[in-house]
Amino acid sequence: MNIILLGPPGAGKGTQARHLVETRGMVQLSTGDMLREAKDSGTEMGNIVADVMARGALVTDEIVIGLIREKLADKTEHGGFIFDGFPRTLPQADALGALMEAEGQSLDAVIEMRVDDEALVDRITARSTCGSCGEVYNDNTKPIPADGKCTSCGGTEFKRRADDNEESLKNRLMAYYKQTSPLIGYYYAKGMLSSVNGLGTMEAVQVDIAAVLDR
Ligand code: AMP
Repeated sequence: MNIILLGPPGAGKGTQARHLVETRGMVQLSTGDMLREAKDSGTEMGNIVADVMARGALVTDEIVIGLIREKLADKTEHGGFIFDGFPRTLPQADALGALMEAEGQSLDAVIEMRVDDEALVDRITARSTCGSCGEVYNDNTKPIPADGKCTSCGGTEFKRRADDNEESLKNRLMAYYKQTSPLIGYYYAKGMLSSVNGLGTMEAVQVDIAAVLDR
């Protein structure tokens, strides 16, 4: 089963994707993670995208479609792809449809995670992740344990994303509303859209997503 998690920055797409990887053997394809890796390892493409990402704008369709194309070519067996943070524009959505068809694969569900903007700002400005396993923490609702060890892997280094600040967040939200939110109508019209309330607890959202997948 191949699915898209659709929603603004901070909606919880990454957190839910991690859960689906653990429980269903799915493979998370996060273009944001791929771009951050390229940036951190200083590849030519990473250098090109670094500035765009820091501002909270979208990198070109060509770059992200290229990244996804490479991943889809890998024929290792798994429980399906979770597209996380991709597609983000209508041309990306068209390209994904064409790539999946060319690979003889189908896109089975698009899950929109709904959250209000105020909650997003709160979540993102309080967010940090474990540097080893990517477990997500929040200063208010799920602080880093007092012993400084990640609850999931015991790691002791935690990171905050460079673009998790109010200025870039404004641009990321604007990019979402201008360029990505039209995908909600696009996938609705294709009969593929389901929406879940992304404001519930992590467990409640897991249950809602499972209900969509097991339908
Ligand atoms: P994310 O981790 O999904 O929030 O992505 C972080 C940043 O990477 C975004 O703010 C964009 O600059 C860039 N990015 C990630 N995915 C895409 C995409 N599908 N299209 C364009 N830019 C992207």
